[in-house]
Amino acid sequence: MTRALMPKKLKDDLLDEYDHRCAVCGGDRPHIHHIDEDATNNKLDNLLPLCPNCHLRDQHNPTRKIDIPKLRIFRKYKDPAILKPQFHPIYLRQSFLDHVELNDEKVEDIKIKVNELIEFIHSLEMGNFYSKRLMELIGAPKGSGGLFFIGMEDDEYRKRLVKINTDYRTKIIENRDSVKILLIELLRYQAWANK
Ligand SMILES: [Zn+2]
Ligand SMILES: [Zn+2]
Repeated sequence: MTRALMPKKLKDDLLDEYDHRCAVCGGDRPHIHHIDEDATNNKLDNLLPLCPNCHLRDQHNPTRKIDIPKLRIFRKYKDPAILKPQFHPIYLRQSFLDHVELNDEKVEDIKIKVNELIEFIHSLEMGNFYSKRLMELIGAPKGSGGLFFIGMEDDEYRKRLVKINTDYRTKIIENRDSVKILLIELLRYQAWANK
């Protein structure tokens, strides 16, 4: 495969953004890694400077590879705590947020996953504060759900329910970036994140 040449300006912009250092460990002489592994996709948010160690050891080693959506979060928010193994259970519990679609019918699965995420966050340091904030951002509104019983309900009721559920999904889609920001903010209060 021929590699598309990376424009110098783009490369310079990326390296400047990271002070010419590895995004993970701060090491020098970083390579440029394509987050989606498509060497022709030279968009700034698809690129990450990684020192030879972090690049080859972690990103091109099939047994240790960090998955692409997680690397995108790291590219966007930059906190190295995102890559620590202790973040993984949080990462897994929030990943459903990116798959919420406006036109799905039901919200039952979403409500279960929201509860799982909030319960988990509640168990962490500062969990009381952050689980409340999460409730505000992605908590289910009163009266949502219920579409399992569609056939038994009258039309007005159904319409109202569809509206409540659609509003709920809209709220999640609007707030999912804020959720990620909160979850990353919460990392700084965890003892492991600063080691
Ligand atoms: Zn490194
Ligand atoms: Zn690479």
